[in-house]
Amino acid sequence: MQEFTKLKAEGGMARINDFRASRRAFMGLAAGGAALGAVSLPGVQAQTVRTSAHIVILGAGAGGTGIANRLAARLDGARITIVDGRMQHWYQPGFTLIAAGLKPAGYSVTTTGEWLPDGVDWVQDYAAEIDPEAGRVTTRGGETLDYDYLIVATGLSLDWEAIEGFSLDMVGENGIGAHYAGPDHAAATWRMMDRFTDEGGVALFGRPATEMKCAGAPLKYTFLTDDRARRKGTRGDVELIYAAHSGGLFGVPIVNEKVKMLFDDRGVDVRYNHVLRAIDPGARNATYDTPEGSRDIGYDFINVIPPQRAPQVVRESGLSWADRWTDQGWIEVDPYTLRHARYANVFGVGDINGVRYGKTAASAKWHLPVVEDHLVSEIAGGEGTARFSGYTSCPLITRIGRAMLIEFDYENQLAPSFPGVIAPLEELWITWLIKEIGLKPTYYAMLRGRA
Ligand SMILES: Cc1cc2nc3c(=O)[nH]c(=O)nc-3n(C[C@H](O)[C@H](O)[C@H](O)COP(=O)(O)OP(=O)(O)OC[C@H]3O[C@@H](n4cnc5c(N)ncnc54)[C@H](O)[C@@H]3O)c2cc1C
Repeated sequence: MQEFTKLKAEGGMARINDFRASRRAFMGLAAGGAALGAVSLPGVQAQTVRTSAHIVILGAGAGGTGIANRLAARLDGARITIVDGRMQHWYQPGFTLIAAGLKPAGYSVTTTGEWLPDGVDWVQDYAAEIDPEAGRVTTRGGETLDYDYLIVATGLSLDWEAIEGFSLDMVGENGIGAHYAGPDHAAATWRMMDRFTDEGGVALFGRPATEMKCAGAPLKYTFLTDDRARRKGTRGDVELIYAAHSGGLFGVPIVNEKVKMLFDDRGVDVRYNHVLRAIDPGARNATYDTPEGSRDIGYDFINVIPPQRAPQVVRESGLSWADRWTDQGWIEVDPYTLRHARYANVFGVGDINGVRYGKTAASAKWHLPVVEDHLVSEIAGGEGTARFSGYTSCPLITRIGRAMLIEFDYENQLAPSFPGVIAPLEELWITWLIKEIGLKPTYYAMLRGRA
């Protein structure tokens, strides 16, 4: 077990230190280009390290694909296996644009295979069991994979069944939307929102009480519905209600204040401490849990976003926190190194990590160099130094053609990529362009390990 401790690295610490210096220079510059595209610096070449380690990556989404490309470029002789049964790769930040009628469903869809580097084995199946004591993963099909290092990048599960009365086949009928569910469901959500903003009535938005990916997306979608109604001249006929799961709209206080102000300005009615429990599609009624008991609200359009948890295989693996997020199962990693707290040969990238912030693709981008540094340095016989700051980013669309670039870290400090150029809490056209045009190429560069 854990042959990695015995692995011999070629190259030695001097080369690794050279690499680290180059890498720091690279990443410092890349921070400035974070939202606009991959930065390539001529002459900066990371050193490769020779190893026979077997690295298993679970999940070929944003994080898993990015780390596979980075490790394939850095490790010479390693066996890298990536496990994912999904044939399609989804660019999920596009779902909000699809659900607002700004992009077609195909905008977010590519294939998983096209992003995977040569020399990486792709097991087209899902992990069914993880045994971190034995260092072994078993797939649903019964294949066993013994690993030296494991990278968990499964993303999260959307727990649709937790909403009583709801099922995904209802989306696109009777005023029901669910833009988190995938590109086709996002397109169906647009059909419902389009009809609603023609006909008027009451629309319900909100978020689950669990941690969630892109906590800005439910807010963006509320703003976009408001804007669609204004453009059609029907804003006077629609009532927009946002059900906040807590006493605020956003975890970062300064952003919370700004969104509150904008919701006030746009006439969005906020119901605090309302968590969606059930819908009755026939009666078009939604039931919320509140501190005062159940509350029913009738609707003509609802965008359902369910509770979010680690996939079952992860929750049952023994990798989750024992005393935090116990109903959600995020993995117990060090918030700065993303290395597992109890299994030193396990790392997490992306949404699966049990850290305070960071369930965005933009965060996954910054997970990648950290995990790469610690894993490759260890194989080389050294110790990684890179740290994840908690960087989380969300271009918060406030109307078609305007967005605010919200970037922050573990300390709730704003972490602007373009200080002095793009004001973080201003509704700007340039920020809209970042979301609408810049984010997708950056995302794809990240998949290739180049951003
Ligand atoms: C509506 C919406 C809007 C968003 N907007 C933004 C935005 O504007 N900016 C931003 O930065 N982020 C945004 N995000 C969040 C972003 O998409 C995620 O944070 C990011 O994709 C996380 O990457 P990941 O690799 O952790 O998970 P994913 O990209 O979701 O990939 C997980 C992969 O793991 C696979 N998998 C699952 N279970 C298993 C298993 N048992 N075995 C093997 N493989 C498995 C899945 O099939 C999937 O391919 C948005 C998300 C949504 C839904």
